[in-house]
Amino acid sequence: MVHKARNLAKSQELKKKLPQNLPPIYQHNQTGNYESEPWPKGDGPGEQGMPYKVLPQFENYAERSVSEYGMNIAVSDAIAMNRTIPDTRQEECKYWDYPTDLPKTSVVIVFHNEGFSTLLRTVHTVIERSPAQFLEEVLLIDDFSDKPDLKERLERYIKRFGGKVRLLRNEERMGLIRTRSKGAHEATGEVVLFLDAHCEVGLNWLPPLLTPIQLDNTTMTVPIVDGIDSNDFHYSSTYPEDTHIRGIFEWGLLYKEKELPHKEAEKRAKTSEPYPSPTHAGGLFAIDRKYFLELGAYDPGLLGWGGENFELSFKVWQCGGKILWVPCSRVGHVYRSFMPYTFGKLAENIKGSLVTRNYKRVIEVWFDDEFKKYFYTREPTARLLDAGDLTEQIELKQRLNCKPFKWFMKNVAYDVPEDFPYLPPNIHWGEMVNVLNKECLDTENNEVPTSITTSVCHGYGNNQEIKLNTKGQLSTGERCIVGDNKGVQLVPCELGTVDGPWQYNEENNLMYHTKLGKCLAVHKHNKKLKMLPCIAKSNSFKWIFRSFEPK
Ligand code: UDP
Ligand code: MN
Repeated sequence: MVHKARNLAKSQELKKKLPQNLPPIYQHNQTGNYESEPWPKGDGPGEQGMPYKVLPQFENYAERSVSEYGMNIAVSDAIAMNRTIPDTRQEECKYWDYPTDLPKTSVVIVFHNEGFSTLLRTVHTVIERSPAQFLEEVLLIDDFSDKPDLKERLERYIKRFGGKVRLLRNEERMGLIRTRSKGAHEATGEVVLFLDAHCEVGLNWLPPLLTPIQLDNTTMTVPIVDGIDSNDFHYSSTYPEDTHIRGIFEWGLLYKEKELPHKEAEKRAKTSEPYPSPTHAGGLFAIDRKYFLELGAYDPGLLGWGGENFELSFKVWQCGGKILWVPCSRVGHVYRSFMPYTFGKLAENIKGSLVTRNYKRVIEVWFDDEFKKYFYTREPTARLLDAGDLTEQIELKQRLNCKPFKWFMKNVAYDVPEDFPYLPPNIHWGEMVNVLNKECLDTENNEVPTSITTSVCHGYGNNQEIKLNTKGQLSTGERCIVGDNKGVQLVPCELGTVDGPWQYNEENNLMYHTKLGKCLAVHKHNKKLKMLPCIAKSNSFKWIFRSFEPK
């Protein structure tokens, strides 16, 4: 019945008579009701998402901009504000009809010292590629930037959008988390849709994100994020075609992704339909504004950057909502190679890592006791951090009658342990001091795989925090220490296992490799680690675990 009605509805007149709240309808080879003409093939810099290289006379500026912004702003400057990008959606996406009465949306973009052209390209693409009737406003919130071009020049520029773009400025640095919450308070649309300040939205990106929210206002939706290269602004899909990926986490609360389990994939009639995801990456999502505020927006005790994506994910699922990833909505994002800003005053008087402290807040509120231990096993120093007052967050959880984390693991994130098994306890953790050279095993910050040496012990800090679990895995953070006859390396820990070959002997202080039958030793002169036949009397083979305090 419904199908027939939709067939007829192709004539505009009849369409009006249809009941409003119709769910989305798929009709093969019938172009969807919000599809626009394919874009003309531009050939300027970066058009069609092609990589661009600056002219020789701009190379210096280009290099400087990379260190200042974490991305090549000289390249961005050369590219049109509304350059064309490839349509990375799957074919099916062209054939969906979406409701005609979708909620009005405030697109909220918070920014701190971003490049002018990348920020404005985000704004331009949103305005030019969204049905105007659903775009209430674009709300820009300046998180206390000090770059001169983000002052009057920005104010002048946005006048051309005739009031659609509103600019607010923080009086002091608030960090991205608090600034986004402020954006939700200030926004006037029914839906708030957050974007980072270096995005480009794709063809027909908005209606697919709004439809699930209209059907159920406790649903938050997440577009599929494409990659924009931070050096040449080449636009490309992050994932192989026809794969459906969702957001998960590991026990140290690093964001991870994993393919949609069959069980979930099968529930959809079309693979272009939205699917549930345990978590999201953080920067890009849409949510009913009132619902977001009922959830308390973000925990205001989260500072700066990090962990807020999990706080919101756990909160949404555990308190009765859901997160859907939407294959037919694609948004490009510039992944920076490093974070170009510091947190200044925000980090003052906070002991230890700001991000780990945020993670601790999140797990202390949302994990049940039996799950908290996995976080502390993975991040032992987090036990020593002061997470601040959590009373309000715990009250909110009770008031909203939220389900336990166990429910979340059983029903939503059940595939996480396949990649990240529950962690057995650590037998030892701390810095690992070599008795001969009195230095600490140091994994540095290099890209893995990398060789390992010792260096002067520096106490608190990631590179020298080593842990050995009851299953013989020796690791630091999410990296594992492995040895073979050639040497000792730091590699990504193998997915799906917590086992390792190491055995520590507390009596003679040897670190024994059960597979090789050799011991971990340090080279006297170049400090490189090696696997050698064990010599219990030699100090170069002796290691002592020493705990440390956060600074
Ligand atoms: N941001 C902010 N205040 C801050 C740090 C970041 O408003 O203290 C903004 C930043 O300009 C960007 C968004 O928050 O628009 C997300 O930050 P970023 O892109 O650095 O995070 P990532 O994408 O690397 O996770
Ligand atoms: Mn970003």
